[in-house]
Amino acid sequence: MAAQNFDVIVIGAGPGGYVAAIRAAQLGQKVVIVEREHMGGICLNWGCIPTKALLRSSEVFHLMHRAKDFGLSVEKPDFDLAAVVKRSRNVAGQLSSGIGHLMKKNKITTVMGTARITAKGKVSVKTDKGTEELTAKNIVLATGARARNLPGLEADGDLVWAYKDALKASRMPKDLLVIGSGAIGIEFASFFNTMGAKTTVVEVMDRILPVEDAEISAFAKKQFVKQGMTIMEKAVVKQLDRDPKAGKVTAHIEANGKVETKVFDTVISAVGIVGNVEDLGLEELGVKIDRTHVITDEYCHTGVEGLYAIGDIAGAPWLAHKASHEGVMVAELIAGKHPHPVKPESIAGCTYCYPQVASVGYSEAKAKELGYDVKVGKFPFIGNGKAIALGEPEGMIKTVFDAKTGELLGAHMVGAEVTELIQGYIVGRQLETTEEDLMNTVFPHPTLSEMMHESVLDAYDRVIHM
Ligand SMILES: Cc1cc2nc3c(=O)[nH]c(=O)nc-3n(C[C@H](O)[C@H](O)[C@H](O)COP(=O)(O)OP(=O)(O)OC[C@H]3O[C@@H](n4cnc5c(N)ncnc54)[C@H](O)[C@@H]3O)c2cc1C
Repeated sequence: MAAQNFDVIVIGAGPGGYVAAIRAAQLGQKVVIVEREHMGGICLNWGCIPTKALLRSSEVFHLMHRAKDFGLSVEKPDFDLAAVVKRSRNVAGQLSSGIGHLMKKNKITTVMGTARITAKGKVSVKTDKGTEELTAKNIVLATGARARNLPGLEADGDLVWAYKDALKASRMPKDLLVIGSGAIGIEFASFFNTMGAKTTVVEVMDRILPVEDAEISAFAKKQFVKQGMTIMEKAVVKQLDRDPKAGKVTAHIEANGKVETKVFDTVISAVGIVGNVEDLGLEELGVKIDRTHVITDEYCHTGVEGLYAIGDIAGAPWLAHKASHEGVMVAELIAGKHPHPVKPESIAGCTYCYPQVASVGYSEAKAKELGYDVKVGKFPFIGNGKAIALGEPEGMIKTVFDAKTGELLGAHMVGAEVTELIQGYIVGRQLETTEEDLMNTVFPHPTLSEMMHESVLDAYDRVIHM
């Protein structure tokens, strides 16, 4: 069959690829998107969305236990794990099929199959029906990433789960070990702990959520411990002895120079991700790869003319909104526009555990390390009327300013709904706001957002409700 020609070939239909395809189509390009498994990628099918659906169930379950605090009664809070998982899978399915509709609406050709780049501008796709050849001046590589497997700690889908296994859990763990306390590990720990699993988190670094500001990590840890979690920091899981017949795993955990053994019925391995760089023809094209990520410049150029890499395959931060934003930028570059590159320090990170954690920009320690003279403001949830009314008095908001210029260098939050609040500071940073603008802004009452105002006021010794 003769090759079909397009302006842009997008490989991978995750939040990087499908957004790039839509923006390119909006700009008048003839676009084809190739996907080997599911529209929406990891994000919609096995990442961002289904985890949030599970976490919503655990949040409601948690509130059922607290019904009395609100003057309500629930006889005996209970759950059906199969139904909780089914709801999460249905939410993922609904959104994934929505992406198919968006492709049609934007007149984007969709090819379901596995793509390989055979030469500059040429892609061969293996489909159920055979091989399709595609050509285009521009190729956008958005093949994403998968769970990292460490030797000896590999997921087996039975006793040791990777994120996909945990998202379709067929049984409720009683004694759960979560290896890794990044966003993925902590979200699963929070979900299963709230649903009743005795949960232990092991983190190799000196604190959980290690990319967050140290004060926020410490605050979150205190809350998790209060909820019954065991947190082991500066600890390494050296070995897992699996006994499938007994349904048990013995973990050898090194901490404080000693190795102790602990028995669990389930382990979730959340030790990071690796980019999907294999079998794409990248080596032959001379694309440079650092471990499992394609090396790009700030505009996502790979060094090969007409070949761009975006999203998880192009490295940290491994977040859907970073992937999508790079997708838009690359589509605009291809169409001859002059977009700004994505600034990593403007990409917010959100963790949807209980309590939630969100941040953007530099932590206090990082800002100081970079040589800034900083002004720091803090405000606790206990000082906010809406937080008290919601029954969510645990949390804090911290802001870090450049003392010389008033630039908002970073914002860090832990507590109810902070994953929604953080965007206020993101907009502020994008508009290059200063402390004056933020202090002069009128925040509506009663809202949690008033704490964002108070945190800024605190940095300048003007806090009202504390
Ligand atoms: C459990 C979990 C929770 C997460 N939660 C969040 C969150 O709350 N917020 C957030 O921002 N991020 C979250 N993430 C990260 C987020 O899912 C990723 O950053 C995002 O999906 C990356 O998008 P992408 O387009 O680069 O790749 P992906 O979403 O991985 O999509 C890549 C697509 O490419 C396809 N593909 C791969 N190779 C080929 C090939 N050769 N041919 C054709 N198709 C191919 C794959 O099938 C896949 O569909 C989470 C991740 C996990 C695992």
